[in-house]
Amino acid sequence: MVTVEHMSLTPVTFYPRQPEQLQDRFGRKLTYLRISVTDRCNMRCDYCRPAPDAYRAESHAQILRYEEIERIVRVAAGLGVTKLRLTGGEPLVRRDLPLLVEKLANIPGITDLSMTTNATLLGKYAHDLVSAGLGRINISIDSLHSLRFRKLTGGELAPVLAGIEAAKAAGLLPIKLNTVLMRGINAGDGHSEVAELIDFAAANHATIRFIELMPMKQGMDWEQHYISIDEVLQREDVRARVDVDAALETGNTAARYLPLKNGSGEVGFIMPMSERFCEGCNRLRLTADGGLRSCLPADHQLNLRDLIRSGGSDDDIRAVFLRSAMIKPEIGQYDFDAETEKRSMIHIGG
Ligand code: SAM
Repeated sequence: MVTVEHMSLTPVTFYPRQPEQLQDRFGRKLTYLRISVTDRCNMRCDYCRPAPDAYRAESHAQILRYEEIERIVRVAAGLGVTKLRLTGGEPLVRRDLPLLVEKLANIPGITDLSMTTNATLLGKYAHDLVSAGLGRINISIDSLHSLRFRKLTGGELAPVLAGIEAAKAAGLLPIKLNTVLMRGINAGDGHSEVAELIDFAAANHATIRFIELMPMKQGMDWEQHYISIDEVLQREDVRARVDVDAALETGNTAARYLPLKNGSGEVGFIMPMSERFCEGCNRLRLTADGGLRSCLPADHQLNLRDLIRSGGSDDDIRAVFLRSAMIKPEIGQYDFDAETEKRSMIHIGG
């Protein structure tokens, strides 16, 4: 069981309504909410979910309804949240997702609405998502080899490639690609696809970001498959493409960027393990079942769903946001203890 803190509905202390900016104890402004719309997925990536027999999706009744998500976001926007990302599970397996996109895109204060997806259903939905107000998209792709892709994800590569084409055709630009690095699978001697993926991204006018494997509660052995970005940047085929001597650009995101030598763009590196990016963290997460989390690896989450369903007011929701900001740790700690109660990425929302 995950630690869930139940907020009492009374007494409600005074919280000024507007304008207000959610800020944590360390002065970080929290402007970015990642929303998991489902903990279901049409793939079964070993690094994202626990072993198959340990995986159990929430029932539909446990999952936030679109109206509930919309209400939570309205309150968050009143607290200075401007940026939203829809994720999951696979967000596009949730029925009528463009309806939610439309609701959220029209909330005053929301200026950036994006989604992270495995792209398999983009052929069907890309156009509707853009019409509904989706601005940007991140697509996960861990291998360009169909057999390897199938073994890792349980899904097919062809619909992902078709989804990338559909995103381009719908104008969801610039596309970002995300690749989790796993030694012995798509990284490390004899397995590295890093150079190939960089070329694939450039050919598609996309920016690729390589992500270090995190030890979430998953069906994959982290110690066996973790590889640092630093090690990847030592490879000759990578150094032939990436200007590793350039200063790593930080920007306002978790990724650091290096320019490509041929001038065709840049490549991103997300290093949750070798270089904590907590200092500039501006994120909160809403789980599909209504948990508000202020730190990915921390177990602690506050239960907004039960609060709302027991008649909580907007002021009560606001109080939960303020409390979540207050308990956000300065640094996220990955706990390697097998007894930890932490959840897998598919449950939290990546
Ligand atoms: N289904 C969508 C997708 O495939 O992009 C969205 C959800 S997925 C959980 C979001 C992101 O989390 C993906 O980019 C995925 O690669 C990343 N992710 C999941 N488990 C991870 C882990 N253990 N370490 C690093 N990244 C992980």
